[in-house]
Amino acid sequence: MKKDRRSGDTPIIFFNTLSGTKEPFKSITKGEVLIYTCGPTVYNYAHIGNLRSYIFSDIIHRLLEYNGLNVRHVINITDMGHLVSDADEGEDKMTKALKREGKPLSLASMKELGDFYTREFKKELKLLNIKSPSKMPKASEHVSEQIAYIKTLEEKGYTYATGDGIYFDTSKFGAYGALGNQGRKQNDQEKEYSRIGVNVEKRNSRDFALWKFNKKMGWESPFGMGFPGWHIECTAMSTRYLGKSFDIHTGGIDHIHIHHNNEIAQTEAATGKKFVNFWMHNSFITIEGKKVSKSFKNEILLRNIIDRGFSPLAYRYWLLTAHYRSSINFTWEALEGAQTALFRLHRHFVEKLRTTKRGTVLDSYQKRFLAFLNDDLDTPQALTLLFELMRDGGVSKQDARTTFLDFDRVLGLGFTETNKRLVENLSGKIRLTVDEAPEDVKKLLAKRDNARKSKNWQRADELREEIHRRGYNIEDSGEEAHLVKK
Ligand code: AMP
Ligand code: ZN
Repeated sequence: MKKDRRSGDTPIIFFNTLSGTKEPFKSITKGEVLIYTCGPTVYNYAHIGNLRSYIFSDIIHRLLEYNGLNVRHVINITDMGHLVSDADEGEDKMTKALKREGKPLSLASMKELGDFYTREFKKELKLLNIKSPSKMPKASEHVSEQIAYIKTLEEKGYTYATGDGIYFDTSKFGAYGALGNQGRKQNDQEKEYSRIGVNVEKRNSRDFALWKFNKKMGWESPFGMGFPGWHIECTAMSTRYLGKSFDIHTGGIDHIHIHHNNEIAQTEAATGKKFVNFWMHNSFITIEGKKVSKSFKNEILLRNIIDRGFSPLAYRYWLLTAHYRSSINFTWEALEGAQTALFRLHRHFVEKLRTTKRGTVLDSYQKRFLAFLNDDLDTPQALTLLFELMRDGGVSKQDARTTFLDFDRVLGLGFTETNKRLVENLSGKIRLTVDEAPEDVKKLLAKRDNARKSKNWQRADELREEIHRRGYNIEDSGEEAHLVKK
């Protein structure tokens, strides 16, 4: 039985990077919360560090719904060139990826590359039980909105041109650097920026590119052909779908100093309004103390976890054992421990709480659950509570089962009404619809479909075999065929 709570029963408190303190959360529009999450650059598979950001924003999303609020959640897709470092230097990630994959340097192949990794990303979100966001806009499909912002900033006198692009003049935005206290640490920070900032034409080391010229490839614009700078896309897409001012903006802590301060500066300079009320950031996943990242060459992908026989939900569970503002060190042993713990809960749910009777959500448990999570997302305590409930001999099967299912609306750990689905969740079985299959497999499937229609069973079997050799089993159930990755 679902029971919707109105927020106000237990106040929601979030740590706001803007104020550096925990604050009571209040949305701009009563009953509705607007969230923007900085999404992936789709030049490769997301690594487990990146995925922490989306599990984190998923918990916020689910918790707000659990509190009875409507949520509009946007995660953008960066599918076009931006520069390697936040400070505009280095080679563009998407361009680098095109070279890596031996594809021609063109907008068309950049799109193809981006579309491929976007599809992979969406599959990963599904495997991790991350709720579909309301919208996942692509940067490449919002270039005109980005150009419009740059025009506005130009008209308002916030920009200047250098030999390689159009820049935002941070000295014109007095409040620059409010996030993470950057403004007040100006002197130290300048030193840090000047180590990175080598563009001698920049007026201030913290100025950043809004548009980068590129004569060979890119989009037409009033400034010349080229690419938008990275930061402007988040301003364009967040305000397009959530309005000029919205409630929550999330990302990893590495985005605080540069990317998010730049987003605030350019948006507020253009709109004259406060951009975002709550800025929330997750800490890093590390391996042997080092941030998981491409540059440290220590990245682990979700598929590596699945290949080693772990459930994607064991990874989700492991993450929830730490508070999102603490960094967490990944080891295979820790993941193993998380999987064991999660499976114990699942086994208890399947074996001990098997019943067809409906129960009610246990009020005393639900109150404590909300008190933990509404206090800045204390997921470790919420998990401890699940174990307490598991061991509690004084509650009926049906009430315990219903309470597990109720808590799972926030935790997303795969407790479901049907055991078949649960087993599937845990095995990390990757089920794809035909649409989600790679192009070559899709073609083979279409041929197989035709063979079946003309009752050429032998040909249909050969095609099934060929698809099998390419790594997929076909499951024909009901109307629609599904593929299961071997
Ligand atoms: P990117 O695709 O590089 O923009 O990263 C996507 C998201 O992952 C951003 O919110 C980053 O802050 C976050 N992120 C990157 N590395 C890590 C890490 N090791 N641990 C946690 N979050 C990370
Ligand atoms: Zn962003």
